[in-house]
Amino acid sequence: MTEPPPSAAARAADGADALAAFRERFRLPLAPDGERAVYLCGNSLGPMPVAAAERVAEVLELWATLAVRGHHSGPAPWMHYHAQFAAPLARLVGAAPGEVVAMNTLTVNLNLLLVSFYRPTRARHRILIERPAFPSDRYAVVSQLRFHGYAPEEALLEVGARPGEELLRTEDIVAAIERAGATLALVLLPGVQYLTGQVLDVEAITRAARRQGALVGWDLAHAIGNVPVALHDAGADFAVWCHYKYLCGGPGAAAGAFVHERHGRDAGLPRFAGWWGHDAATRFAMGPDFVPMAGAEGWQQSNPPVLALAPLAAALAEFDAAGLGRLRAKSLALTAFARQLIAARLAGRIAIITPAADAERGCQLSLRVAGGPEPGRRAFAALTAHGVIGDWREPDVIRLAPAPLYNTFAEVERAVALLGQALGAP
Ligand SMILES: *Cc1c(COP(=O)(O)O)cnc(C)c1O
Repeated sequence: MTEPPPSAAARAADGADALAAFRERFRLPLAPDGERAVYLCGNSLGPMPVAAAERVAEVLELWATLAVRGHHSGPAPWMHYHAQFAAPLARLVGAAPGEVVAMNTLTVNLNLLLVSFYRPTRARHRILIERPAFPSDRYAVVSQLRFHGYAPEEALLEVGARPGEELLRTEDIVAAIERAGATLALVLLPGVQYLTGQVLDVEAITRAARRQGALVGWDLAHAIGNVPVALHDAGADFAVWCHYKYLCGGPGAAAGAFVHERHGRDAGLPRFAGWWGHDAATRFAMGPDFVPMAGAEGWQQSNPPVLALAPLAAALAEFDAAGLGRLRAKSLALTAFARQLIAARLAGRIAIITPAADAERGCQLSLRVAGGPEPGRRAFAALTAHGVIGDWREPDVIRLAPAPLYNTFAEVERAVALLGQALGAP
């Protein structure tokens, strides 16, 4: 198709964008016509930072030339390779560096932290999650309930949208927490809900749960690198996230975890242990007894997966250079622009599920095409055929996530125009 040029509004917004230069620091996939695709899928897999290839190549070269000596020499000795991520990750999730660690993968970290933070008693054994929760989180929670001998039918509480509504209400979550009261062991919720893109109120919900004596874990898979979070100040007990979505750490990147410092200092906390969680000073004394490191590092199992972490160094450098404050401001402007275009051109044809309020939306807009899943699927296929990469989530949601590091206002405009074309809008 011949593309109409960007409107004056899109050109002005891109011209004034202080982060515009970051786009060239990412490799973006190509569209069927050989041009750069409009990549709006960073909520699922962030694109490759150019520098990621260099970081990986460096590790391979050190492996080739130093082999085992790479554990102790080179620019970032592998023995402590994970440690370089603590400070930049802590800045993104609102934590102290000692409260965060890059390790394992998301669901593994969730199960590991549930071992420590879901310790039910007969009286207090229920877990509250959202409906519909991301399947992996639900599987993990249900498996933990069963592991402890509780039936999910009784012990799993789910809070969903009210009939006829799409979004969770903070008041409903708080009410569910209060209803469960002294039977509630744990609340596990997402910082940003994967299907709707709704940002939850981490602070208010954490406070409500702690008032009832429950522990609180957050899954930040869709929140980290997307919206600011303040885990420490909110008082969250633990959190987990992956690094391959907004963070652009690469497919299957090693993930992250947060443990509040009030727990990180508790060496007596039950946990599944491995040698990399053992006190670094005495790890190689090879003694029989496990002595945990202080902080989140004490939950590590194995020596760091260096190749799975190397791209993350490149990605976090981009986040630090851009700054989460500037990224968030541009992100809100991009989604506001998209909302405005959809309201002007596609009212009645597309419903935006994601909340309108700034505080309740991140990069992602979840769209539903009027008329059921079939026209939705067709519109999504048309977007894909024209080089707009988003994703489709069953049963009927198109997710488009303009990301401030590499997307432009002109791209947002183009995606909305193509949607309109696919839906036969004038
Ligand atoms: C993406 C995502 C996952 C993925 O889990 P992995 O262990 O990384 O495969 C889990 N939970 C949520 C909420 C997610 O958004």
